[in-house]
Amino acid sequence: RRAEALAASAGPGVTADGHHVALLANIGGVQDAEEAGAQDLEGVGLFRTEFVFLSSDAAPTVEEQASIYRRVFAPFGDRRVVVRTLDAGADKPLAFADLGPEENPALGRRGLRMSALRPDLLDAQLEALAVAARDTGADVRVMAPMVATAEEAAWFARRVRENGLPKAGVMIEVPGAALRARHVLADVDFGSLGTNDLAQYTMAADRMQGELSDLLDPWQPAVLDVVAAACDGARRAGVPMGVCGESAGDPLLALVLTGLGVGSLSMAPSKVPVVRLALSLHGLPQCQALAEAAREAATATEALAAVRAGASDEL
Ligand code: PEP
Ligand code: MG
Repeated sequence: RRAEALAASAGPGVTADGHHVALLANIGGVQDAEEAGAQDLEGVGLFRTEFVFLSSDAAPTVEEQASIYRRVFAPFGDRRVVVRTLDAGADKPLAFADLGPEENPALGRRGLRMSALRPDLLDAQLEALAVAARDTGADVRVMAPMVATAEEAAWFARRVRENGLPKAGVMIEVPGAALRARHVLADVDFGSLGTNDLAQYTMAADRMQGELSDLLDPWQPAVLDVVAAACDGARRAGVPMGVCGESAGDPLLALVLTGLGVGSLSMAPSKVPVVRLALSLHGLPQCQALAEAAREAATATEALAAVRAGASDEL
């Protein structure tokens, strides 16, 4: 029965009572884009641009970048493509953006912090994205990784718009930014929760250390509380919030995130059908009740158990 329901799942993400939650793909380059573009999903919620340049010794030129971005955007036609500017440093080092050794790279000059120190790299990337967006007519939206403060968000949004790109967003993956989302999001068009890093920083557990996976679990109630605070802030700012961490592809967690107010879920494309099915089996008030039950739990295990008990048996 579940297999049949999965095979029949199609179209946009919609809850049982008709609330839309966009189902989007996480991609890392041209091949991913071609595969995801051929699938029944609503676009891209996270294009990890640093993946394209992991083996580049020298900074790619504007034209080199534009020709890659055109090939990434083309498969999506007029669907949205959310592009993340270079998230270099820590677990994703880029030779041409290396700023020297650090004691704690995950807490160091990574993500937008690197871009602030190398604005030449950011401007070249934004210029290339603007050229490729114009050439393909794609609905391109640009977001920054590792934003911590309202000033950083405003600085990034200004630079994006100066380069002629219409929509600027920020990733919310630092707990400080999540707690202050109302202000961090004040000058941008959207927020996107990066639950991988948000869990790492909330629980003070290195995401590169496999033996810490229990702490890195997005079902940790503390992580859910931080996500809830970010969603509240987004609501108050009047800005849409999505999720692009791996948690978005967990069907039960997708229900919780929807209940917390998230309006888009970006995941590995293979996860889209099961998340679509999960949404179709639950109304928004039920998602809200599941979110409340998860946050009432004392532990990650209990949070998952509570949601599993309250969700449809068909999942
Ligand atoms: C995240 O941190 O959740 C995220 C989506 O980005 P990345 O995994 O690339 O750091
Ligand atoms: Mg991240």
